[in-house]
Amino acid sequence: MQTFLIAGGAGFIGSHLCEKLLNDGSKIICVDNLITGSRNNIEAFKNNSNFIFIKYDITQNLKLPDEIDGIFHLASPASPNKKSPRSYITYPIETLLANSIGTYNLLNLAKEKRARFVYASSSEVYGNPSVSPQDESYFGNVSPNGIRSVYDEGKRFGEAMTMAYFRKYDLDTRIMRIFNTYGDRMQKDDGRVVSNFINQAIKDRPITVYGNGSQTRSFCFIDDLIDGITRLMISDKAKGQFLNLGNPDEYTIIEMANIIKNLTKSNSEIVFEQLPEDDPLKRKPDIGKAIKLLGFAPKVALAEGLKKTIEYFKHN
Ligand code: UDP
Repeated sequence: MQTFLIAGGAGFIGSHLCEKLLNDGSKIICVDNLITGSRNNIEAFKNNSNFIFIKYDITQNLKLPDEIDGIFHLASPASPNKKSPRSYITYPIETLLANSIGTYNLLNLAKEKRARFVYASSSEVYGNPSVSPQDESYFGNVSPNGIRSVYDEGKRFGEAMTMAYFRKYDLDTRIMRIFNTYGDRMQKDDGRVVSNFINQAIKDRPITVYGNGSQTRSFCFIDDLIDGITRLMISDKAKGQFLNLGNPDEYTIIEMANIIKNLTKSNSEIVFEQLPEDDPLKRKPDIGKAIKLLGFAPKVALAEGLKKTIEYFKHN
């Protein structure tokens, strides 16, 4: 039986990863400081004898007696919406530290345990990209001190630190740049576009499009992303690699507002609010590397994934 440590395991993506690996028969040590994650997300696993939860902040050095085969570092606030109590704008210092000192601590743990290490980086390392789609050779267009820099530069530092451990200690590291992902267990007050629009639409409240809605994002359903993350950990070909994970299906934000309005049969009006500072104008992953290396292939169409997500929010 394999043992995995999932830092950020009580978050949206982390909790789905816990579930998938428990179902595959692995033992999970879930670590989370719960500033943006939630106990509700892991409630279903608490009686599973293969699941251990430790409320812990990864910026503190972590000592564990157990054997560990792999570590996933997903522990970071991730929403850019300053109106959300859970965003990285609300937790700027925590975000920088989770991705710097937190990454350093988890890399040292991986070195001590001879474990594989998967770091959750982000499409945000590309900033407001001047090329589209973005492939892994693009260095990005990031403000070093703008409002989003705590996350963008945090992720860029985390990548640099991870690659340093790969190069200096030959540690078995892998980096995934996660693009926009949606699905059940997103926090209602996360401030992300999908959760905001669905919750506004099902309550017939105004759907808030920021800017004129011509900016684009490409949306991946959670089950597809989890498949990619799992493949990245178990592949014997991915040591020292960094790659995009997401769905290249690209939509403007105004299209997204209309799709969600139609799927929920909502009476909401669409209103326009100020575009946040440094909001990227386009984002679309080139996933050629993940396809070739991992056999990754997102399968869930947007309408299908949104219907499942809408059902989740209607019942929660
Ligand atoms: N957005 C929007 N209305 C909202 C929330 C977000 O128009 O209520 C826009 C946001 O400005 C951005 C896009 O939707 O252009 C995606 O935002 P999100 O916060 O989901 O994540 P990002 O991709 O910017 O990290």
